Amino acid sequence: RAILRELGRIKEHREQELPIISGSVPPQETDPADFKSRFLKKIRKLGEGNFGMVELCLYDPIGDQTGELVAVKSLKTEKESSNLRREISTIRNLFHENIVKYKGICNEEGGMNIKLIMEYLPAGSLKEYLPNNKRNIDQKRLLLYARQICEGMEYLGSQNYIHRDLAARNILVENESLVKIGDFGLTKSIKDDRDYYKVTEEQDSPVFWYAPECLINRKFYKASDVWSFGVTLYEIMTYCNSRNSPPEVFREKVGRVQGQMTMARLVEALEGGWRLPCPESCPEMVYSQMCRCWSHAPEKRVDFQSLIKEFDFLLS
Ligand code: ADP
Ligand code: MG
Repeated sequence: RAILRELGRIKEHREQELPIISGSVPPQETDPADFKSRFLKKIRKLGEGNFGMVELCLYDPIGDQTGELVAVKSLKTEKESSNLRREISTIRNLFHENIVKYKGICNEEGGMNIKLIMEYLPAGSLKEYLPNNKRNIDQKRLLLYARQICEGMEYLGSQNYIHRDLAARNILVENESLVKIGDFGLTKSIKDDRDYYKVTEEQDSPVFWYAPECLINRKFYKASDVWSFGVTLYEIMTYCNSRNSPPEVFREKVGRVQGQMTMARLVEALEGGWRLPCPESCPEMVYSQMCRCWSHAPEKRVDFQSLIKEFDFLLS
């Protein structure tokens, strides 16, 4: 890949030196994954997390406003550029209908300011979509979303990746009947000789979505994503009502404690068997799927394959 990039650069260089005969470069000579920043026009901000920021842009190389809409992820500070590079190298290898599509990168100014270009999903994340469209979404549809997330996760696991940030805020909505997994910023690939990933750097982690082994030993298994899926299913069944969000429910239980104390209390509660409660009007059959995701021991948890079968049964 590095060689290809180098060749691309040499080619670009040559094109600049050659006398221009035809006026423009023939289309087959331009790399469709190479976006030029001068043609990217910001329309509005779509969202932001801890490190990243995502903007809706029009990519309009012809300059007649007929270009395509894309979502562009960049970093808030240049410090974290290796994280975004890792995210790009992950997402560009993923091909599944329930995973957000990679389109390319914008990597000018000597690579200091790298950007990830993705397909734009007009309805945003489940966290905005569900509360705003509650009236038009019945429980059957919620289970359909849950099933689609499992399909995407099953594929991700088959490629030996662990997502590590599965949550409603990271599930994107294409339309009322299609959702996709996004935000591969914390995703890790597990090596052949291991079945978990061990975190070395301390960082802002989504603790209320994390399984006990992640909080206690900083070990992430595929089954740790299953736990987070259970929390995501909980969010979905509450229509992402912020008053019932996992952090909010937990704070109601333990009171408002600071920093490291939160984590200690959370571990204590989980080890004592505490779990998020059954959301209002959520069928017992669905809550029991959440609970199967929340077995204390990772090896006792359900896997995505059997969750898909359960959802098929519930949807039939
Ligand atoms: P971070 O790593 O900073 O959390 P995300 O990739 O999760 O960044 O994106 C932040 C937010 O931006 C998402 O929660 C979502 O609301 C919005 N967003 C991200 N990607 C897209 C996309 N492809 N289409 C539409 N909205 C998006
Ligand atoms: Mg995110």
